[in-house]
Amino acid sequence: MIPARADRETALEIARASYRGISLYNPDRSPARIDLSDNTNTWGVAPAVEAALREASIATVTRYPNLYAAALKDALGGYLGVGADRIVTGCGSDDVLDSAIRAFAEPGDVIALPDPSFAAIGIFAQMNALRPAVVPLTASLDLDAETMLATDARIIYICSPNNPTGGSMSRAAVERVVERARGVVIIDEAYAEFAGVDFLDLLERSDRVLISRTMSKAFGLAGLRVGYAAGAPALVAEVEKSRGPYKVNALAERAALAALGPGLSWAREHVTQAVENRERLADELRGRGLEPLPSAANFVCVPVADADARGKRMRAHGVAVRPFEGMPAIGPLAATNGSALRISVGPWEMIEAALDALDATAEGTP
Ligand code: PMP
Repeated sequence: MIPARADRETALEIARASYRGISLYNPDRSPARIDLSDNTNTWGVAPAVEAALREASIATVTRYPNLYAAALKDALGGYLGVGADRIVTGCGSDDVLDSAIRAFAEPGDVIALPDPSFAAIGIFAQMNALRPAVVPLTASLDLDAETMLATDARIIYICSPNNPTGGSMSRAAVERVVERARGVVIIDEAYAEFAGVDFLDLLERSDRVLISRTMSKAFGLAGLRVGYAAGAPALVAEVEKSRGPYKVNALAERAALAALGPGLSWAREHVTQAVENRERLADELRGRGLEPLPSAANFVCVPVADADARGKRMRAHGVAVRPFEGMPAIGPLAATNGSALRISVGPWEMIEAALDALDATAEGTP
């Protein structure tokens, strides 16, 4: 019998056993004057996006959106240079990744994940009752292709550029995985626009590769939640089933169409600025005796001791960055025992504030 009032303990009993160890995503969201903690576009959005949102009619919100975002799939296909039948969209790439994991693996199947990498994937694996096989990156922070393959996983997840370390995975390692994997290979390219290189060409070589992307980073639409993936038509059709209808809301679709159309040059210009500021930030960090990891994304990961405490002290100085502790102590992460700060790149004034906060919280400062 289900008790009428579900207190926390009974709720735990009602939930699927595999859900009991899952907690809500809860990064530090206390207000900060400057927020460089989530790799979004701190420049904003293209004027064309603002105009599209302002000019949207009320009917846009009173009616259901397009079932599977056909117009957006067309625009995204044009942007990537692939047919619209090779695109699936979703409520953020989180939704696309979760749907893909559900579509391609049965409960109990193995998913291989690099470590460190995008933490949400481990949660999606748990939510879908998969068994994660966690494979540390190599000492040069590259994908350990052989160990990933040896897991014989149903799904292999790769993130390039990798969050939170920032570097691209080597072409040799990714190609090796794609050539040998027995199941689906998901390549998460949330930060591809900042990298200058990508793995889209692998779509021609394998019909079991799914490349996920997002409009949350380069296009500045994190709050509207628009993500997508490209793959063989039969592959994306399965993700679409698992995703379900109406996942991209009507305002989000309008904004995304504007961002990919008249707003595209704005996004490209700001990607160029982000890349310039990323390199300048890395130089500044090196000038302070730190050793930032090479980044191909819109953030820089810099090993520091006690990142959680340092991040809190920086927040007290008005600047939010994302601390990571407990990462594998490999290669350049060994010296700080897997502790690092991830600093998003934005307008230079914001980065200056982050550098000031870093200086003010360095060891030996009061
Ligand atoms: N993949 C990676 C590697 C990310 O860093 C993020 C956002 N933090 C996402 C996917 C999800 O992005 P969104 O759901 O906003 O598209």
